[in-house]
Amino acid sequence: MAIRQTKVAIIGSGPAGLTAALYTARANLEPLVIRGLQPGGLITTTNEVENYPGFVESIGGFELADNMARQAERFGTNYLDTTVLSVDLSQRPFVLQTDSGDTVESESLIISTGASPRKLGVPGEEKLANLGVSYCATCDGFFFRNKRVVVVGGGNSAVEEGLFLTRYVSELVIVHRRDTLRADPVLQDRAFENEKVRFIWDSTVTEILGEERVTGVRLINLKTQEGTTMEADGVFPYIGHIPNTALFNGQLPMDELGYLIADNRMRTTVPGVFVAGDVMDHIYRQAITAAGQGCMAAMEAIWFLAEQEHLARRQALKR
Ligand code: NAP
Repeated sequence: MAIRQTKVAIIGSGPAGLTAALYTARANLEPLVIRGLQPGGLITTTNEVENYPGFVESIGGFELADNMARQAERFGTNYLDTTVLSVDLSQRPFVLQTDSGDTVESESLIISTGASPRKLGVPGEEKLANLGVSYCATCDGFFFRNKRVVVVGGGNSAVEEGLFLTRYVSELVIVHRRDTLRADPVLQDRAFENEKVRFIWDSTVTEILGEERVTGVRLINLKTQEGTTMEADGVFPYIGHIPNTALFNGQLPMDELGYLIADNRMRTTVPGVFVAGDVMDHIYRQAITAAGQGCMAAMEAIWFLAEQEHLARRQALKR
């Protein structure tokens, strides 16, 4: 247990946080990144990243995040492997209490806590979590060799992760609440061409069945209201995300979906507090946009700290 004093604290270690770390480290600010529950962030649960510029072939999500972390470390980034339990933004230095018992006092703060997978919220989902219900195909796909697996959702995550699962499963059933996918056309084409993939349109899962493991799902057709039951060994919900903003309730403004609000320079209403990545962006939500926002937040933090130093020097001269 210790008090850690720093000029820049960064909460979260996905592409946004790690890019902010790289930039502030290269400005000799020795940032402290509190890595959180999922070091590297959500991108580490993606098997292959094909759209991060600079990699002619794809790169693994874990490898990409690990590279970013080591690159930032090379310039003096420090890491704290814990989660933040509370923040006090009412005065500077901002004070962060962490799960490890460490207290962090920081002159500036970059929030890049990301977003977490949205749950279906149906009976059986919680009880059967890790017993056939998973939110990470990359982590758990291997356990579903020659099984029938259901993916819920029609976005890029559902289709991309579903396609990854076809390496293992005997049948992949994508259950989508409409009759057209939201996923990029290139992914749609791959899914339509894949013989292991079957679609159930206009439907959603209303219950996940099983006692010790998932044995099936109950479905409802939203157009006809007809209910059916289907045998399945696994369920992977990919129905979007919820921003991780609970820490900032009452301290920073959020939109109606709970995302933090920033101006177009990543600044919040509290001077010295900046945001980047999925915690503030529900439109683009790409590794590359998160990294770009991390860079912007870092540059703003660098300028903010320089300004504070300048003001303090002027104040000292006046005395
Ligand atoms: P998303 O694009 O928001 O898609 C969520 C999907 O879940 C949608 O098809 C939505 O249906 C469905 N859905 C939402 N709530 C539901 C509910 N309660 N019950 C059933 N279905 C529900 O989320 P995402 O796929 O996680 O992607 C998030 C962001 O990351 C996107 O910007 C995406 O482009 C990006 N991403 C990019 C890549 C890539 O570029 N390779 C890979 C993964 C993710 P509707 O379509 O009817 O709304």
